[in-house]
Amino acid sequence: MHVKRVVKYEAELDRDFADWIMSVPGGEKIRDCIQCGACSGSCPLSVYMDHTPRRLINLARAGFKDEVLNSFTIWLCASCYSCTDSCPMNIKMTDLMYILKRKAIEEKVYPKKFPIPVLSKEFFKMVGREGRSTETRLLVNLILKTNPLKFFGLAPLGLKLLKTGRIGLKKESIKAKKELSTILGALKEETA
Ligand code: SF4
Ligand code: SF4
Repeated sequence: MHVKRVVKYEAELDRDFADWIMSVPGGEKIRDCIQCGACSGSCPLSVYMDHTPRRLINLARAGFKDEVLNSFTIWLCASCYSCTDSCPMNIKMTDLMYILKRKAIEEKVYPKKFPIPVLSKEFFKMVGREGRSTETRLLVNLILKTNPLKFFGLAPLGLKLLKTGRIGLKKESIKAKKELSTILGALKEETA
């Protein structure tokens, strides 16, 4: 992937960003990174990333918050844990990717129209509300929010799948929605 190089000035850096990451469980050890590159070497997706895992951790601890949160890397990560396994400093790179994804969603700075953050947001919204995800509804929401024109192109295939019973529109949900909401509310308070 082509990476646009820009000159950054110290005044633009967010020095608190690394401190914030280190305060979140899973991000404590980023300052221990020795830039050996074992994470990038073992990552099956690093060739497609705009910043390799090694570079991402260096940018994060230096305070390049915008570059890190806008990066495609955190959304391409497939959570395979290969980087975490190969790190000689026991840095939990995969957990770091999750921390950064959550922050990017919170601050609404993920790459616009990029489907993965939208899918993740819609999935959590649906599961938080219903306790289950309904794949067809999730897919429709995703297409409408990322590429609405594609909806018309996919409609004939969707209708065929509906007719043959391969997909359904019935909303999946659990009975104990109130209890789920209490648990999620408590978790939210805990992590706030
Ligand atoms: S493997 Fe660990 S120490 Fe080496 S660059 Fe990656 S995060 Fe840093
Ligand atoms: S967990 Fe993510 S960053 Fe780490 S090796 Fe797998 S895909 Fe790459």
